[in-house]
Amino acid sequence: MDTFLNYIDGQWVPSVTGERFESRNPAHPSQVLGEFQSSDARDIDAAVQTARRAQKAWRRTPAPKRAEIVERAVRILEDRKDELARLVTQEMGKTLVDSSYDVGGAITSGKYMAGEGLRMFGDTVPSGLPNRMAMTRREPVGVVGIITPWNLPMLMPAWKLFPAIVCGNTVVVKPAEDTPLCAVRLFEILEEAGVPPGVVNLVTGYGHTAGQALVEHPDVDMISFTGSQEVGRRIAATAGADLKHVSLEMGGKNAIVVFDDADVDAAVDGVLWGGFSTAGQRCTASSRLVVDEKIADDFVDRLAKRMGELVVGDGLDEATNVGPIINPKQLDRVHSYTRIGIDEGAELVLGGKKLDDADLDGGYYYAPTLFDHVTPDMRIAQEEIFGPTVAVLRVSGDEEAIEVANGTDYGLSASVYTTNVARAMNAVAEFESGIAYVNAPTIGSEIHLPFGGVKSTGNGHRESGKSAIEQFTEIKTVFIDYSGGLQRAGID
Ligand code: NAD
Repeated sequence: MDTFLNYIDGQWVPSVTGERFESRNPAHPSQVLGEFQSSDARDIDAAVQTARRAQKAWRRTPAPKRAEIVERAVRILEDRKDELARLVTQEMGKTLVDSSYDVGGAITSGKYMAGEGLRMFGDTVPSGLPNRMAMTRREPVGVVGIITPWNLPMLMPAWKLFPAIVCGNTVVVKPAEDTPLCAVRLFEILEEAGVPPGVVNLVTGYGHTAGQALVEHPDVDMISFTGSQEVGRRIAATAGADLKHVSLEMGGKNAIVVFDDADVDAAVDGVLWGGFSTAGQRCTASSRLVVDEKIADDFVDRLAKRMGELVVGDGLDEATNVGPIINPKQLDRVHSYTRIGIDEGAELVLGGKKLDDADLDGGYYYAPTLFDHVTPDMRIAQEEIFGPTVAVLRVSGDEEAIEVANGTDYGLSASVYTTNVARAMNAVAEFESGIAYVNAPTIGSEIHLPFGGVKSTGNGHRESGKSAIEQFTEIKTVFIDYSGGLQRAGID
């Protein structure tokens, strides 16, 4: 079996712990993709120290030159796109179509951020004093710790790492323990592209050891985290006490609102994609369907019929619509919510069981699941399940629909289906979410636009697009006085 190493200071090195963990294919659990370093605080310390040492030279490297290296990485990613998409499917389970988006998103992110290396704009502003220039310039934050989840195993490290290094930061990445091979391949590409030693470092391992050590390390200036709310809250508290910059992107309980004038077939198509692609394991998954009671019976009938046609299986098989759940623990968690929903009095319309047919080879599959007559206070309407389970909440009229859609702690993505532009625009304005869609499901954000959520989904940052540059830079305000004497700002 292949053993994969950490990448520190431009070298592939074993962990000081000598311990390793496996990554398995969730569609074929007997298939081990490799063994990875189970690192601890000592490995993190080595990586942070090398990132610190590399900081000075990298921040002095002109941004357009930093961007050229990212451009080279993009070209390699493009050449290897199909092979990498297959790897994403093998390690994470999602279908090849989904995995192509994962790798394609990493490519687009690299292209966008390589362009940012030529911009990295500051402002030039008129000074209130004569013969004085006022402007801002962007500078790196310093050493950035990047902690990523397993559901976007290539995209998520890439879309944090590319803007971070184009902005002149050096980084230490701690990828999810379920998908370390995708991160290793990305780092091999960065090495081939010529990123100087120490600028990017990879340390694999578990969250409570390697992840936590990165958050606690005093020489880390910023943590960029995507993952669960529970872990995000803990990171905010720890890193906040050290006054580190912290950017958090956490979960969602995203609603598709279906008004009574909606094109029901389009809405059902939207739910099938938004609720069940990636087996519902997306932060933006359409897990709640808020449907006007006037059309709810028809909507649920049509949805259940179409859900019955979804093919569950190995993501490498082109016929598959819904791949496996990432691991047995998560599979149990998804299933526990079915019991919770039934106990709470919701009506289980379809699914609600683990699938263990012989041809599924022991993969961690869950049947696409539909609950109807869910009420807003139920746990299945409030908590992120992160599986192929959707809940229908029946409402009366637009106002109640929007109130119910907004009625969770989360605020990542929301969508409305309607044929009336005024009703659509009202919903867009009223949604408490970082992303809003009209006549599309709650997934489908594009890499060149800001991404993130309000309320307990985030802490005010937006990743992706030009907002990433805001996140990974500090602003320095500069005044240049060429009057030849003393000028007192705000006084003279
Ligand atoms: P998770 O929070 O369990 O783990 C995320 C990462 O944090 C992993 O790398 C893990 O090792 C690390 N980690 C765990 N404990 C840690 C600790 N104490 N200190 C430091 N790091 C620690 O989440 P997950 O199960 O990998 O991913 C699923 C979650 O991610 C879902 O809640 C989903 O909504 C969320 N997610 C959010 C977005 C978004 O942008 N909003 C995108 C994708 C996934």
